Amino acid sequence: MSTDKIPFLDLVTVHRELQDELVEVLTTALKSAGFIGGPMVQGFEEDFARFCEVRFCVGLGSGTDALRFALMATGVKSGDIVITVPNTFIATTEAISQAGAQPDFVDIDPRTYAMDPGKLRQYLEHKCRRNTKTGQVIHNATGKPVTAVVPVHLYGQMADMDTIVEICDHYNLKVIEDACQAQGAEYFSGKGNRWYKAGSMGHAAAFSFYPGKNLGACGEAGAMTTNDEQLAQTCRLLRDHGQSKKYFHDIEGYNGRLDAIQAGFLRVKLHHLARWNEQRRQTAERYDKLFAGAEGLVTIPHQPSWARSVYHLYVVQVEDRTQLQKQLNDVGIGTAIHYPIALHLTKAYEGLGLQIGDFPIAEKAAAHILSLPMFPGLTSDQQERVVAEVLKALSTTSSVS
Ligand SMILES: *Cc1c(COP(=O)(O)O)cnc(C)c1O
Repeated sequence: MSTDKIPFLDLVTVHRELQDELVEVLTTALKSAGFIGGPMVQGFEEDFARFCEVRFCVGLGSGTDALRFALMATGVKSGDIVITVPNTFIATTEAISQAGAQPDFVDIDPRTYAMDPGKLRQYLEHKCRRNTKTGQVIHNATGKPVTAVVPVHLYGQMADMDTIVEICDHYNLKVIEDACQAQGAEYFSGKGNRWYKAGSMGHAAAFSFYPGKNLGACGEAGAMTTNDEQLAQTCRLLRDHGQSKKYFHDIEGYNGRLDAIQAGFLRVKLHHLARWNEQRRQTAERYDKLFAGAEGLVTIPHQPSWARSVYHLYVVQVEDRTQLQKQLNDVGIGTAIHYPIALHLTKAYEGLGLQIGDFPIAEKAAAHILSLPMFPGLTSDQQERVVAEVLKALSTTSSVS
């Protein structure tokens, strides 16, 4: 077996393969000096809306902008509480705070790592009351209104959207999907009796095109999607200083536009996304097979029958994650941890007053998860070596203890 290094993520090869097309985008942009807005941005927005099977896509500067603008556009405001999960990238909660709201959390499903709808229901039933006149949900401890929920489709796996949407409809809460890791993931809705794309089931959704995402720009980029024309229009205002036309500011907005060159790059790469996602699925399936028989040692990702994950990451759980990561690193295999500290325990959120033990499932996951190499182009030989080294490392650690 080869002993070459196996990176956690290879972003170089794909860009070498697409170099001619990408350079052409750059040449076109230079010729017209159309760097902001214009046909490249509009073209990508149309293509991505079609890909997500939604009516509208608004190109934005980042996934964080997309979350913030989507929250603001759906009416989240200063003093609200917005509910999400503790095991996400901090951008999810940053956007909630930037919209003026306070993030709060509910625990996750231990198998999918996504929001547990039962925990959401418990939170609303037991930690909140309803204002009898307005019907608004009020958080008992703070007296603040709860106005929105942000399920995160983590690792490319969908949250249980039918149940989450049903609960949120009942309580009149907005649903903003954090689909930053889930471009192309699908959910089978029993209610709609068909498959839905990530980003098409909530009131609005946020996507990131950070380079390492399944669809990545060659720099910073993001987008929001929605079927609601008014929401799309508000996000268009928010991204461009609230301008309905140049120097006519309907509201105070932000500088949160999608760069035209990045839109051009994304448009080129979007043509390949379905194929890349399919390669990721095959890669995940190969890992699953290679780990069969190691059930007690390695917990592999679980895919419910209602989900088609796009495996942004392939995340396993083991008893001694630190030791395994070190041993893999020693033999040249790259890994990562998404994410090592649940957000309620991170320093930035000390002020929320949350404790160890508040979200035990997310905390346990944070302590045991490890993301193995995953990208289109990872070969089966490389995967065999990764799994062999994982099993070897686990057999030595368990014999030591
Ligand atoms: C990447 C990511 C974001 C933020 O996206 P940026 O484009 O980096 O701002 C938000 N949420 C999740 C779950 C992410 O993975």
